Amino acid sequence: MSILPADNMNASMDVDILIIGGGGSGLCAALAANESGLEVAVLERDSSALGTTSMSTGLIPAAGSELQVAAGIEDSAKVFAADINKKAAFNTNESVVDKLAAESAQTIDWLVNQYQLPLTLVTGFTYPGHSVLRMHGMPGRSGQELMGALSQAVENQQIPLVTDALVTDLYADEDKHVHGVRYQNPDGEFEEIGCRKLILACCGFAGNKEMVNEYIPEISKGEFFGHPGNKGDAIRWGLSLGAKTADMHAYQGHAGLAKGYGIPILWPIIMEGGVQLNKNGQRFSNESLGYSEQAVNVLQQPDAEAWTFYDERLHELMLDFTDYQHAIEAGAIYQADTLEEITALCKLDAEIVRETLNEIEQLANSNTEDQFGRRFSSNKLLQAPYRAVKVTGALFHTQGGLEVDEHARVVSEDGHALPNLYAGGGAARGISGSGADGYIAGNGLLTATTLGRIAGQHAATSINQE
Ligand SMILES: Cc1cc2nc3c(=O)[nH]c(=O)nc-3n(C[C@H](O)[C@H](O)[C@H](O)COP(=O)(O)OP(=O)(O)OC[C@H]3O[C@@H](n4cnc5c(N)ncnc54)[C@H](O)[C@@H]3O)c2cc1C
Repeated sequence: MSILPADNMNASMDVDILIIGGGGSGLCAALAANESGLEVAVLERDSSALGTTSMSTGLIPAAGSELQVAAGIEDSAKVFAADINKKAAFNTNESVVDKLAAESAQTIDWLVNQYQLPLTLVTGFTYPGHSVLRMHGMPGRSGQELMGALSQAVENQQIPLVTDALVTDLYADEDKHVHGVRYQNPDGEFEEIGCRKLILACCGFAGNKEMVNEYIPEISKGEFFGHPGNKGDAIRWGLSLGAKTADMHAYQGHAGLAKGYGIPILWPIIMEGGVQLNKNGQRFSNESLGYSEQAVNVLQQPDAEAWTFYDERLHELMLDFTDYQHAIEAGAIYQADTLEEITALCKLDAEIVRETLNEIEQLANSNTEDQFGRRFSSNKLLQAPYRAVKVTGALFHTQGGLEVDEHARVVSEDGHALPNLYAGGGAARGISGSGADGYIAGNGLLTATTLGRIAGQHAATSINQE
C-alpha cells in the first residue's frame, strides 16, 4: 500500500471519477457521480460488492425525510445534529455534522425516488440518543438487502464495477495530485487505471490487528465482527500523502455479539427493558447508554462475557430482525418458563438474579435511577417466561479516519483540501467523537451514504467546472 510516482504510471484506461471500495459509500458515490454523465468506475477487492455495509442492519438515520413526514414525525437537521454532537460530547467536526444532518433526508429521498430502494421508517422503538424515530431500513432490516438494492441500481445505470480488484498503490505527483491507481487481480497480475478524481470508500482499519493495537488498545481483545477488507488502506495512503487523520481512537463496538455464534443481538432488546448480567448474575453498568461503549464493560467481566436477560415481550419485538431470527435458528437463545429454570440453563445464581429483578422493579416504581444511572420503566419490567443469550463485546468498525471537509474532500495536515482526493464512509473521520461512547446508532451508514453521495456529486461538479 504505497504512493508511487505519477510518472511511472502506464495506465491502459482512464476514467473521470474512480472509486476504491464497493460498499455503501462507494456505491452511493458512484450513483451520484454518474448522474453528471462523466465516466465513473468502482474497484472492489472482493468477488462481489458487499463490504461492512452488508453485515450491518442497514439502518440509515435521516432528519426530515419524506417517509418521516408521511408518518407525522417532526424532525429537523438541527435536532439531528444536536443529537449527534451531544452523544459525541461535541468532539466532532461540527461543519461536517451539520452538512450530513442537513443532507441526510435528501439521501433517503434520493435512494427511494431515484433508485427505487424500498426503504421504510423504523417504528416501534427509538435508538439510544436519537430524539425521534429517524432510522430508515430495507424491509428485512438487513444490510445485505441494502447492498443488493444498491448493486442493482449501479448495474441498472451501467456503471462499471470491477470486482476482484485489490487496489495496492496510488500514483501521485509532488503536489499530491492523484493520477491513478494500481490494482491486482486474482491471478496476481497488476493493472493500472488513471483518473481525474479519486474517492476512497474502502472503509476503516478494524480488520488490521496492528492498527487496532496501536490506535484502540482497549478493544483489541474484543471479537472482530466486521468486514475483513477493512485493512486501513485509505488511511495509510492518506497519511503518505500528508493527509490529516482524526479520532483514531473512535470505534463502533457492540456489547451484544452472541458468544460462539457471531450473531449480533441488537439493542432494542435492552432499550425496551432487557438487562445484562455477568456470570455472577450481577448487573455491572448502565446498558442503556449505548451498545458501543458497553462492549468494553462486557469485556471487563469474568470470561469477557455477559447474559443479555429478557422476556417473551422482548422476544416478540426482536423477531422483526433477521439477525435475531438467525440467533434462534442457531440455538443461541435460551428460553424457560420460570426464573429457576432459566437461571439453571444459564448457570446463574437464581437468588441473585431474583434480587436484581426485584431491585429493578422497586427502582421503576419509585422512578429512581440505579447506581449506574439507568432509569427503568414500570411498564417494561421483565416477567416470566424468560429468555437469555450469552454475549461478548465486539469491534464492528472504526470511526477515526481521514479528515474531510463538508464536500468530503480529504484535508491535509495544514488544513487545505488535497487537490483531487475524497473520502467517504469508514475511510473518513466519523462523527462519533474520540472513543466508543460517542457512537450514536446510524453514524456508520449516515457517513457512508451521505458522505459518499456528497463526494460523488462534488467530484463531478468540480470536473465540470475545470
Ligand atoms: C455487524 C454490523 C452492524 C452494523 N449496523 C449498522 C447499522 O445498522 N447502521 C449503521 O449506520 N451502521 C452500521 N454498521 C456500520 C456500517 O456498516 C459501516 O459504517 C458502513 O457500512 C461503512 O460503509 P463503507 O462503504 O465505508 O465500507 P464497506 O461497506 O466496508 O465498504 C468498503 C469496501 O471497500 C473494499 N476495499 C477495502 N480495501 C480495498 C482495496 N484496497 N481495494 C479495493 N477494495 C477495497 C472492501 O472489500 C469493501 O467492500 C454496522 C457494522 C457492523 C459490522
